[in-house]
Amino acid sequence: MEVEILVIGNEILIGKTLDTNSNWIAKRIVKYGHKLKRITAIEDDIIIISNTLRNILEREPDMIITTGGLGPTFDDMTLEGIAKGLNRELELNQHAYVSIMRAYEHAYERGILKLEGMTKEREKMSYLPQGSIPLPNIRGTAPGVKLKEGETTIFILPGVPAEMKAMFLNVINPILKEKRGKFVEKGLYFMGIGESQIAPYVTKLEEKYSQLWIKTHPRIGLSLEVEISITGFNVENGDALANQALNEIREVILNLGGKIRER
Ligand code: AMP
Ligand code: MG
Repeated sequence: MEVEILVIGNEILIGKTLDTNSNWIAKRIVKYGHKLKRITAIEDDIIIISNTLRNILEREPDMIITTGGLGPTFDDMTLEGIAKGLNRELELNQHAYVSIMRAYEHAYERGILKLEGMTKEREKMSYLPQGSIPLPNIRGTAPGVKLKEGETTIFILPGVPAEMKAMFLNVINPILKEKRGKFVEKGLYFMGIGESQIAPYVTKLEEKYSQLWIKTHPRIGLSLEVEISITGFNVENGDALANQALNEIREVILNLGGKIRER
């Protein structure tokens, strides 16, 4: 599957909060052999959210995951922005309403919150774009949302990392597992020769093994230690091909007088 992540939140763009959500999600998408095509981070703004969603939909990913902006405050505009982007109305979702009401009831009864009952701000979270399936939030109050637009499934997750993770693991992880693709990643470290010296050989290998992505990453300084990593998504015989390419690289490194450290 091809996936895009849309990170929504002013805090991220002013540098107050580090976007750890997309990194956490990225690891899991890749783990199950899917391709993360893009991560976009935008502010809480209805027009920007709706336009960005439309742009992403034009690229026809199989899945879009958004995080952030689901809370009760005026600046949480994700649902409104998504609804606008899809030309759908926001409508009161009974399941969402009841689950939000229950969550606040429990919090009040346990003395966690002092304000009892539903308020306008709390109600706001139960207005979902038409066609939404609410996703239970076991770590908080604002439900997530699952939507379909054409062939694309859209998951709208909360911004609070604990809530986002719980929902992701419950709802999205099983789908990623079921539709898993095959991802290979192999590599090694080398020393004694620089990244630029090995670059022409890597370019040649990249041409030869065009289904694989062969990349060097300097680790310490310019040449002290370089990692070479070979990745492939859904490549037939990917494992064997990556091993073959890695063997060729080993030969090149040794011929150039470099040293190899296996990972
Ligand atoms: P929000 O749903 O946008 O109101 O987000 C609630 C809180 O979750 C924010 O105040 C941040 O502390 C946190 N948060 C939101 N987005 C992210 C993110 N991408 N990575 C990490 N934390 C986030
Ligand atoms: Mg917010």
